[in-house]
Amino acid sequence: MYDHRSIAKAMNLFHFEEHSPGMVFWHPMGLRVFRAIEDFMRRVYQSHAFEEVRSPIALSRSLWEKSGHWEKFRNNMFVVGNMQQDNSANGEAQNADSQAVNLDYALKPMSCPAHIAIYKADKRSYREIPIRLMEFGVAHRNEPSGTLSGCMRLRQFVQDDAHIFCREKDLIGEIGNFLDMVKEVYAAFGYEKFAIRISLRPEQRFGSDALWDRAEAALINACQVLGYAYELLPGEGAYYAPKIEVSLEDRLGRSWQCGTIQVDFNFPQIFELSFVNQEGKLEQPVMVHQAVLGSIERWIGILLENQGGLPLWLAPVQVAVASISEKSADWAEAVFARLRRMGIRAELYADDATISKKIRELSERKVPLIAIVGEREAANGTVNLRHLGVSGQEEVAFAQLEEELSSCQNYLAVAR
Ligand SMILES: [Zn+2]
Repeated sequence: MYDHRSIAKAMNLFHFEEHSPGMVFWHPMGLRVFRAIEDFMRRVYQSHAFEEVRSPIALSRSLWEKSGHWEKFRNNMFVVGNMQQDNSANGEAQNADSQAVNLDYALKPMSCPAHIAIYKADKRSYREIPIRLMEFGVAHRNEPSGTLSGCMRLRQFVQDDAHIFCREKDLIGEIGNFLDMVKEVYAAFGYEKFAIRISLRPEQRFGSDALWDRAEAALINACQVLGYAYELLPGEGAYYAPKIEVSLEDRLGRSWQCGTIQVDFNFPQIFELSFVNQEGKLEQPVMVHQAVLGSIERWIGILLENQGGLPLWLAPVQVAVASISEKSADWAEAVFARLRRMGIRAELYADDATISKKIRELSERKVPLIAIVGEREAANGTVNLRHLGVSGQEEVAFAQLEEELSSCQNYLAVAR
């Protein structure tokens, strides 16, 4: 029962289909969870001075050639048709053949070139640097079918894909900020422990050794200054940048990479990024790539396996109000209405099924709180509260239920 796919099935979160291997079909209950995570992360990113953007999922082959993805990452990319026919329809048939090569598109495996395009859309000044952009980026990577594994390894996923354009002297601060975000976010999901690895220059890479020396030193220095233990992984960096990888373990002790931050001197050079510095001269920024959660689908998979369900603040149904009989239905209805007004994801079970049947079903669906309401509770203005996985129940005033729920909602307010 600890496989995330069987837990997801019991909770009716999502499913997979043979015709779209490695891609998730999110059900209403699953999308509630996905959205709750996005809302939370949006607030965290806002509080750390990132601006949210959105960019196309398909970008032209010429851009991927420039970024080096076409050469280094081509086998992992989904390439999609060309615009030849559209051009003919526009009466530009004579150009169609010559344009066809450049009009090949690839679905983005990451958002870097798109965020570079947003950076370059304006003339930048030192006054606005660092510029921090983030996107819930839909990424496609054509992983071999044998490596696909539920939500843990997919061909399509959403990641909190962020890029910072800053000066070299800002790097320690930005990396420190990233590690703060990791600590804050992982704790909100119940993880106090995570492993940090620093992946160093690979054999096949862009750029001079001098630049790699500076990029690697920035990552290592930041970990040392901030007191984070780390392991070095020689040769494991991306072709354009070394990176810190933050990993969590699942129940089987397998390690999964989640967060990452990369210090990149290469893309700014290739894409000729610049800003006007204080002396009025053009200066090249450093580009930092980061994701705190990484793939949100993988994050949900690990969470389901580690917790055997979802914490109260993320559960698709947080509280189910179950009435024992028709005599208590009015009070059950009133409790339900109050919860809904509080913004709680609540459900009402007021039909004539037995209470034990209701409890069994709700427990199978991993609903964290069941508020049982009978005649006595109706008379006292209370509920009998049952926590998932805990035997027994306790009669509490509505105010106490309210308090328990609002303390968990505070996670969502963490970034305010
Ligand atoms: Zn990137």
